Formats: sequence, C-alpha cells, structure tokens
Amino acid sequence: MWKQVDKFVYEIPLGAKEGMRVPGRVFASETIFKQAEADKALEQVVNVATLPGILRYSLAMPDIHWGYGFPIGGVAAFDVDHGVITPGGIGFDINCGVRLLVTPLTEEQVRPKLGALLDVLYKEVPSGVGSEGFIKLSVRELDKVLEMGAKWAVEQGYGTFEDLERLESQGQLKGADASKVSKRAKERGLEQLGTLGSGNHFLEVQKVDEIFDEAVAKQMGLSLGQVTIMLHTGSRGLGHQVATDYIDVMLKASKKYGIKLVDKQLAAAPFKSEEGQDYWAAMQCAANFAWANRQVITDYIRKAFAKVFGNEIKDKITVIYDVAHNIAKLEKHMVDGMEREVVVHRKGATRSFPAHHPELPSIYENTGQPVIIPGSMGSSSFLLVGLPGSMEQSWGSTCHGAGRVMSRKEAIRKGNYGTLMDSLGEKGILVRSAERETLLEEAPEAYKDVDEVVHVVEELGLNRKVARMRPMGVVKG
Ligand code: 5GP
Ligand code: MN
Ligand code: MN
Repeated sequence: MWKQVDKFVYEIPLGAKEGMRVPGRVFASETIFKQAEADKALEQVVNVATLPGILRYSLAMPDIHWGYGFPIGGVAAFDVDHGVITPGGIGFDINCGVRLLVTPLTEEQVRPKLGALLDVLYKEVPSGVGSEGFIKLSVRELDKVLEMGAKWAVEQGYGTFEDLERLESQGQLKGADASKVSKRAKERGLEQLGTLGSGNHFLEVQKVDEIFDEAVAKQMGLSLGQVTIMLHTGSRGLGHQVATDYIDVMLKASKKYGIKLVDKQLAAAPFKSEEGQDYWAAMQCAANFAWANRQVITDYIRKAFAKVFGNEIKDKITVIYDVAHNIAKLEKHMVDGMEREVVVHRKGATRSFPAHHPELPSIYENTGQPVIIPGSMGSSSFLLVGLPGSMEQSWGSTCHGAGRVMSRKEAIRKGNYGTLMDSLGEKGILVRSAERETLLEEAPEAYKDVDEVVHVVEELGLNRKVARMRPMGVVKG
C-alpha cells in the first residue's frame, strides 16, 4: 500500500482504496512514518484523496497525526469550479496560529526578572477554558472585528500599523461577511477577544540559541542570546462555534450535492455553492477574529514587558511574523504548467511562500516568508523561511509544529507532574499555568522531535532554517 518513493516521501497510489481521486503523499523520515502508522492519520490522508475536485495529491507534512476529518499536518488543494470546501480540512480552531515577537533584551537582562515577568504576563493575558477578556464588545463592534481583523485592533490602539504588514494576509481576509456568523458564535466572541484560551495555547519567553542563516537573521533583527516571545492562540469559542454550525450545514450539503463521504467528518460542499460560499465568508470572519486576538495580546505583552523593564521597551518589541495554521485560502498555483486559482486547505500546516512571492511584504521580499514552528515547552522552536520547493511540492505549505506522538489522554496517563516540573526546572524553564492536567497533556514527551520534523522539511527543500529558540518561561492556557 504505502511505499517510500523518495528520501522523506511516502506514497499511496490511486486505486489503493475505492473512491480515491488522487494519490496520497506523506513527507516523513522513517521514524516519523512509523509513528504515523500507529494512529489513524494515514487512513485520513487516503480519505481526503476521495474528495471531489482535489488536485494532484492528498498531502501530509511530517508533523502528521490524527485529527478531525483531515489529519493534523494535512494539506489539500481543490479546483475552484469543481472542488469542495470542508470544515474538516480547516479545523475547529479556525486560524489557530503563531506570532513571533523580538525584543532588544538579552537572556542576561531577562533572567533575573523572569519570574516577575511571567507573573505579569499571566495576569495581563487572560487564559484558561472559556476565559473572559478585558474587552467587552457590542455585537455591532464585534461585526467590525470580524470584517477587519487585526486592523480593527490597531485602530483601537492595540499595536501599530507597522505590525500589520508583518502578518499573513495583513491580518485581514477581505471576503469576511459577519452576517454569515450565527448569533451563538457571536455571543461566544463578545467577551473573548484578547484571551489566550486553554490547553495547547501558550505564550513563551524564549532566547535565540542558534543561528543558521546569519544574513536573514540579521535582516529580521535576530541575534544569538536575544529574547523572543512566541504566541500561540486562535479564534477561541467563536471559531469553534462557526466550525460546529457549518459542519451541520455541510452534512446536509453533502447529501444535496451527492458528495459521497467515506468519513462524515469530511462533510463538504462545492466551493461555489451557496453553502460553500456561506462557510467561506464565515470562516474568514473567524480567521479575522483570531488575527485581532493575537494583535490585542501583542499589545498586552508589550505592556507587561514595560511594567518590568520600563516604558521605553514597548516600542522596541517588534513583530517578526504571524502565521495561520488552520485555514483555507484562495491562491494562485501552477497546475500542469498553467497558473490556476485553487482553494488550499491547511489543517495544522503553515503557508510557506518563497522570496519574491507577490503576497509577501517588501521587508521579506528577498528572504522568503518567515515560517514559525513551535516545538514544545521543554525543547525548542524554529524560525524558517519558505523556499520555491514548497510551491513545487506542497501548495506553498509546510509543517506547523512538532506534532503529537501521544494523545492528550495518553500523555496524562503516562506523565507525572512532579517529574515534569523537575525536568523543566533543571533546564531553567519556568511555567505558569492554572491546570496541572494541561501541563501533562503538553509535556515535551507528548510531541515528536521537532529537530527531526524540521530536518525533513529542510531536506525536501520546503524551507531553510534561520534560527532556533529555546524556552525560558511559558504561560500555558
Ligand atoms: P497545535 O496547534 O497543533 O495544537 O500545536 C502546534 C504545535 O505547538 C504542536 O505541534 C507542538 O509542537 C507545539 N507546542 C505545544 N506546546 C508548546 C509549548 O508550550 N511551547 C512551544 N514552543 N511549542 C509548543
Ligand atoms: Mn488552537
Ligand atoms: Mn494551533
């Protein structure tokens, strides 16, 4: 069935399972492929290959693991006219993503005040399940957030206009239509803007511990020993509700349009159908909410640093980039030698555009798009740039993290709180979190080796490494 066809490329041919329209492809090392075989993720790659209008391959990146419908790490592109859109290819946390900030501070300057800094961050950035923020929106104002994204936040004084050009899509998708988002979804969004959320979401103070590409690192303002901040969160309850609402719509639409589902979690509608376009517009609203959320939190982070290191620091904390890793986008790609507009689904996958791509801001025109890859709270994280190889092999996409090797349940069962805290303590990593179980779920052992995952995407020519960051302190939702 599955066969290794190249170093780091595994393939399952068309016809291996009834209904496949394209072959399946997984980018993995031997170890990573074996890990993927242990859960249902490979079967999910095959399931995705049966969806109408899918082009070339059903793909998965090396952070592949089991997900809802699509595997996490799944990438698929669909024909605009004959293809579908599916919430299972985007995820419940629409536009979950990562933002990387860089400070002018060094490890030596931050270390003595790290505990105090984490306490302030923990207080200034609300976290936890269903946490409420400091911002209370009216429905009218929320509608503006949904249509304007990060720009709304900047206009309200959260951060600066310079931040905006350093966000994927400038933090605003233009096809958002707030009238396509349900009342219930909006209710869930009214008090959650500027909140981290729970579980896998985090805010991490890091130090740059290795530079791989001096020139690019310098251009991005990064040097060895410098302190960075990584933020991982998404569209909170609002995005979750949009996904839930439209999965219902899609189940009905699948029947109506005669889409044969091998897995109900892949419920889909033709992209150009009324149902498809409604979800498309609502999904973009949730994506914009997530970008506004990360923008507001960026402002809270700057304020927290100012409280500990003095007011001048505020303007010196800059955004390197902000990527979405649960999203669908309309993009131009080469298909059989012709440029075509396609609907790219990235589910636990990151856009990875190369230098000179028209969607990149001028500051990254020559470097390629910054790609942010978190590892775990006990290992390291990477800053990469996109290469032309990603346009050729993966619809301009790459991995989004290390990816799980253990389910949350398994991590809780196998983990030990004391041992975990000891091992983090030995590495000098401080943690702030409300829940012990959350920490166990997120234990470094629950994730793959991020160095190996990044090695695969680098060897395939999807990315080049720029820098590696190690955690100093983590706030867990
Ligand atoms: P996801 O969006 O799939 O929940 O997670 C993205 C990735 O973040 C995971 O695959 C994992 O590699 C990484 N990750 C999870 N927790 C942490 C953390 O506390 N710190 C860092 N740096 N990365 C993490
Ligand atoms: Mn998320
Ligand atoms: Mn995420």
